[in-house]
Amino acid sequence: MNFIETRGNDGEHPLEATFSSAILAPIASFGGIYVPKTLPDLGLSFLQTHLNSNYKTLAKAVLNAFEIDIDATVIDEALSLYDQFDDNTNPVPLVKVKDDLYISELYHGPTRAFKDMALQPFGVVLSSLAQQRNEHYLIMAATSGDTGPAALETFKNRANVQVACLYPDGGTSDVQRLQMVTEDAKNLKVIGIHGDFDDAQNALKRLLGSATFKAKLKEKNIHLSAANSVNFGRIIFQLIYHIYSYLELVRTQAIKLGDKVYLDVPSGNFGNALGGYYAMKMGLPVEKILIASNKNNVLTQLIKFGQYDLRDMSVISTSSPAMDILKSSNVERILFDLFGSERTKELMAQLDNDNHYELSATELAEIQTMFAADFCEDKEGKEYIKEAFENNYLMDPHTATCFKAYDTCRDKPLITIAYSTAEWTKFSPTIANALTGEQDANDSDALESIAKEANINIPAIINDLFSKEIAQSTIIDKQDIEQEILNFL
Ligand SMILES: *Cc1c(COP(=O)(O)O)cnc(C)c1O
Repeated sequence: MNFIETRGNDGEHPLEATFSSAILAPIASFGGIYVPKTLPDLGLSFLQTHLNSNYKTLAKAVLNAFEIDIDATVIDEALSLYDQFDDNTNPVPLVKVKDDLYISELYHGPTRAFKDMALQPFGVVLSSLAQQRNEHYLIMAATSGDTGPAALETFKNRANVQVACLYPDGGTSDVQRLQMVTEDAKNLKVIGIHGDFDDAQNALKRLLGSATFKAKLKEKNIHLSAANSVNFGRIIFQLIYHIYSYLELVRTQAIKLGDKVYLDVPSGNFGNALGGYYAMKMGLPVEKILIASNKNNVLTQLIKFGQYDLRDMSVISTSSPAMDILKSSNVERILFDLFGSERTKELMAQLDNDNHYELSATELAEIQTMFAADFCEDKEGKEYIKEAFENNYLMDPHTATCFKAYDTCRDKPLITIAYSTAEWTKFSPTIANALTGEQDANDSDALESIAKEANINIPAIINDLFSKEIAQSTIIDKQDIEQEILNFL
């Protein structure tokens, strides 16, 4: 199946792109992104067929339905990475926490956060394409925490791909920093910069747009790419677990095949929610998708009032930092799907130029047939963490935002699947504070106190980080980044 562009065609890009070219060069005409030209039907008969399929079999069937131009052997190798998740037969456990609330845990991969669900297989696909084409890629990432470790982990020692990962020194948690700086492989470069996440991101954007930098890469025969979540190569792997979790509910007889459910998604760049939206469009019985945010509540404003308004807004630091986002990139794909390319181009131009757009009343009504949204303040989130813990469920602050949406956004008493996007080990100081009241603990102390409180062990994969050798010790000023990367290459 081919891919088309969200903002229409400028006459310079091809009218349609294959899956592989859409993932190697993800930016389309007028700064748009790629979407599938049509969606396959994965309705009741597909679900019935795969009622007892394991995760990889289901994943293969979903990918096949998209008819993507990736060899079966590459897909098999990509999906085999799910064998290294905690339970090699089931990468995404579903846990019942209330009579009508189930948590689908997306964090059982190597970096303990949901980015692994897509980046693990994506790394294999991208590296294989680069090898087949005999091309070399530099993947650039700027991270405030989760994308960096997941990107390094997936591309480590893969052929034809090198990664340069920028993080703000002092701006990530200890665990996240250690996950990056202990990565020891020739094709990885981790660069701490003096500054905050915006500085890292701006430096990245400047390099991605810099003609001289690109010319220097060209001399070395290296193409530039980014591992961010607008890449459809990541989105396609984020469809599967929504379908899988639904089938788990049928298998455990919580619902009958065909019953509708709510999907409740902690959202930032909207990749996870978009996967749910496509699954629903392809026939998964979903009543609505609940969009949970933190105090950076642009998505709540959009879905409640039809306003995407960044005027007078700046990013607020919260205890769910992976959702501290104002420009939520994948919303564009929903706009395209509902309102077409001309309108999407117009709205995205308004957002770029005026920091604001407003949907019409009919457009808003259409969005609201499929989505509802609410946001959760840090203080409420901590109360949800404590309450869940008292009911024997330990969760992280991103997951906690779903509990607010579960409480306020449902208008029918239907079974709800909420998504847990990070393990407790990644955001331990906030959780320790919620459980015991202790303030400003470092990660190591917070991990200890949660483990004691919950009577569990700190997973070895996290504990070992604190004694692992530091392999990446570069910390520099912003203006030295370009030279540092060129030296690395
Ligand atoms: C990336 C991330 C999110 C947000 O997911 P999107 O697909 O960007 O909406 C939520 N929680 C955690 C822990 C994440 O790493």
